[in-house]
Amino acid sequence: VSRFEGIAMAPPDPILGVSEAFRADTNEKKLNLGVGAYRTEELQPYVLKVVKKAENLMLERGENKEYLPIEGLAAFNKATAELLLGADNPVMKEGRIATVQGLSGTGSLRLASALIERYFPGAKVLISSPTWGNHKNIFNDARVPWSEYRYYDPKTVGLDFEGMVADIKAAPEGSFILLHGCAHNPTGIDPTPEQWEKIADVIQEKNHIPFFDVAYQGFASGSLDQDAASVRLFAARGMEILVAQSYSKNLGLYAERIGAINVVCSSADAAARVKSQLKRLARPMYSNPPVHGARIVANVVGDPALFGEWKAEMELMAGRIKNVRQKLYDSLMAKDKSGKDWSFILKQIGMFSFTGLNKAQSENMTNKWHVYMTKDGRISLAGLSLAKCEYLADAIIDSYH
Ligand code: PLP
Repeated sequence: VSRFEGIAMAPPDPILGVSEAFRADTNEKKLNLGVGAYRTEELQPYVLKVVKKAENLMLERGENKEYLPIEGLAAFNKATAELLLGADNPVMKEGRIATVQGLSGTGSLRLASALIERYFPGAKVLISSPTWGNHKNIFNDARVPWSEYRYYDPKTVGLDFEGMVADIKAAPEGSFILLHGCAHNPTGIDPTPEQWEKIADVIQEKNHIPFFDVAYQGFASGSLDQDAASVRLFAARGMEILVAQSYSKNLGLYAERIGAINVVCSSADAAARVKSQLKRLARPMYSNPPVHGARIVANVVGDPALFGEWKAEMELMAGRIKNVRQKLYDSLMAKDKSGKDWSFILKQIGMFSFTGLNKAQSENMTNKWHVYMTKDGRISLAGLSLAKCEYLADAIIDSYH
């Protein structure tokens, strides 16, 4: 008899489990709109040309495979903080930022959670309802208490701004407020610049600490600077901020696990101490981070020509998703005779669209139409092609009514 008899089978992951089910389906009409990974119009995975160029450069240089320092590659850490805040941001000049390379967005969030657990015992993290499914797992495993603030309003398929502000206001002083920097996952609904100002107001009023998750910089608008506007607005107020970054989506480096945790502090001295503690937390967890993705990012961001090429490819990817979004909307409007207003699809931004389909309707999408998606009604437009929009519209209309 096994010593592991007491271990029950874990449920499949709600997002990655969708890909497993997709692979097992033999129907040729099948469509995988589950995971948020960019596909070409031919629905193939895409390696950015600028990434291939950076990798060729790295090969030519014959760089070695020695360990990185615990905090990661220095050139990467500098590049990633500058990409986030802008190179001329006073925060950079004053050295008020602690940047540590992380295992992509997830690992960076996990490291920040460990910092919260150790140095802010009992402090709560407030997360949006709904949010990316893994946030709850991350905070649970780090033993950081969390609760939700209102975000999505099913009546308008839009932002419940009043509810959001009221819940942030009602949270215990000094809570961490998790915010999606841009392209909110799963809803695709972001606050307006004016709303961001008001959110910053309440957070300051309540002495909360803003904690940004930036997994889609460049993917919302196509512009890296514009998509960092929310974070920069908070930084310009002199606030202390946590920011987790990921290069999975915007550089297509999903499997390289490259990202960072940044802590903007009110002094260089505080930043140095925070950084030393982040390193202390990282060392027993994974010792030091992988080098390959860090070198790619450092090369692309650090070289003006490659940086320019990246921006162009970024716009291409964001543009393809926008085209698909428009075509899906047009197809729904043309086919649906019920008079339903589908314009919310056009208002959403980023890789995802929240269709408003409930669990049973989402299951109909999969069981009858072979459209794989998460059961919260989210579809990844990055996995959709213009050619499949009409089929998807048929499936959505059939599932709705
Ligand atoms: N945060 C959000 C909101 C995400 O959607 C994702 C990926 O889907 C991540 C973080 C982390 O992704 P990764 O760990 O691949 O960087």
